[in-house]
Amino acid sequence: MADAQVYRGHLIGIIGAGPAGLYAAKKLLDAGAHVVLFNRDIKPGGLAEYGIFPTKYKMKEGLRKQFRRILAHPQVDYYGKCSVGDKGDLTLADLYALGFNALICAAGAQGTKSLGLPGEDAVGVMHAKDLVYHYNALPPFSQQQFPIGKRVAIIGMGNVMIDIAHFLLRLWKQVEEVIVVARRGPAERRYDAKEYKYIEAFVDQDALRQEIVRLRPRLEAVGQDVDALIAEMTTPTPPARPADCPGRMTFRFLASPTRVLTDADGRMCGLEVEENILVARDGSTSARGTGTYAELPVDSVVFAIGDRVDDAIGLPYAHGEFLTNPHPDAYDAATAAYQVYDPVHQKVLEHTYVVGWSRKASEGLVGKAKQDAEIGAEVVLHALADTPAPDVATVAERRQAIRHLVEERCGSLITQDEITLLEAAEQQRALEAQLPDYKFDSNEAMLTAIYGHQVRVA
Ligand SMILES: Cc1cc2nc3c(=O)[nH]c(=O)nc-3n(C[C@H](O)[C@H](O)[C@H](O)COP(=O)(O)OP(=O)(O)OC[C@H]3O[C@@H](n4cnc5c(N)ncnc54)[C@H](O)[C@@H]3O)c2cc1C
Repeated sequence: MADAQVYRGHLIGIIGAGPAGLYAAKKLLDAGAHVVLFNRDIKPGGLAEYGIFPTKYKMKEGLRKQFRRILAHPQVDYYGKCSVGDKGDLTLADLYALGFNALICAAGAQGTKSLGLPGEDAVGVMHAKDLVYHYNALPPFSQQQFPIGKRVAIIGMGNVMIDIAHFLLRLWKQVEEVIVVARRGPAERRYDAKEYKYIEAFVDQDALRQEIVRLRPRLEAVGQDVDALIAEMTTPTPPARPADCPGRMTFRFLASPTRVLTDADGRMCGLEVEENILVARDGSTSARGTGTYAELPVDSVVFAIGDRVDDAIGLPYAHGEFLTNPHPDAYDAATAAYQVYDPVHQKVLEHTYVVGWSRKASEGLVGKAKQDAEIGAEVVLHALADTPAPDVATVAERRQAIRHLVEERCGSLITQDEITLLEAAEQQRALEAQLPDYKFDSNEAMLTAIYGHQVRVA
């Protein structure tokens, strides 16, 4: 790997200014590179701003502080409200023509995954990320109506499920029951115990105990200790449920959704699931359908089963992921994992890399995205080790040309300066309303706050 401390004044473009894009930028800046970030959203931060649960104020503000410091570096240009892709403000071809020495895609995983079930397009079917963006005030999701009913099934058993349940039960408050539907059993839950604390008060302890007992023969068939699972998952003294949050939470294990049931108006009115057994394999378990079906009387469903990358960005793509080099040479498998691969010409796409959730969709927390971005940045620096950096005047010219192009294509120029103005306006609002945090939830409102006069967005 390259020594990241050696001065290298290369010009590197990054698509996406979430944690991965920003931490990659930091690593590159520390090595002397010039970095240009193109970000779809006005604000930087990605899911740290628009995914992490809104009431985790301390964590969010801690990350914002780090991001501000990165963006304050004189060798970085930030362009918000500037999307890259086939239908974006800029295309990949535009970026390739701008004279970057390397291009890194750090655009996260913006596509949603679906199971392809009959009825999946019905009103009442939602995807976790869209809802997460909605309650975190990201336009345009913040402006959309979500058809949340009284009884909501959440498919999946990871940390995102916890956040959705937390939102429905504690912030939205209008649901009577949240039912977690999981393919496998209680032993295969994927959420962190720390996160579970946020929703523990809502869990119907008796119902959970009964559900695990109901599955006893199926769990014991693969050697699982039912009583230990009950002891781990339930508590005789759950925290008190807030008086103004009436909803409860239950679990339906060993159940795979097979069909969304709809009424004559095309609204969902139930979820058909197939009962599963567990099959032990190589020290792990998988679910196998039994051919027995049940109908859950729910009026909404949220899929919290992970995301896929956005193929509209234009990089080679298959099965939810951008393609990376499948031919690592024996000495540097780590490098190959970050290089984008063109399967048509069967070669690496020159100077093009992926990091963070764009490399491994929905994998890990911010710390993991940071680590991944830093490794990716080192791979880039290593690859550029023998390429002379452009001279300072050329870099300045290219940065200026990029600024002009962004101004022309994106309709408005959102740089670090505009973000500073926006944050000051939001802090002022928070102060006035005595809130721990305040966010403008439309692009119009953000641009109006930045420019100090009414701005309409087409
Ligand atoms: C619901 C939820 C809750 C989470 N809670 C936590 C938590 O509590 N703690 C924690 O540590 N981690 C949490 N995470 C995980 C964490 O958010 C991710 O690990 C991290 O944000 C991934 O970073 P990324 O930069 O790869 O992607 P993202 O954060 O998704 O950033 C992608 C960036 O790319 C931009 N972009 C997208 N498409 C384009 C395009 N076409 N052109 C230009 N720019 C584009 C976006 O605007 C965005 O800024 C949570 C994730 C989710 C989904």
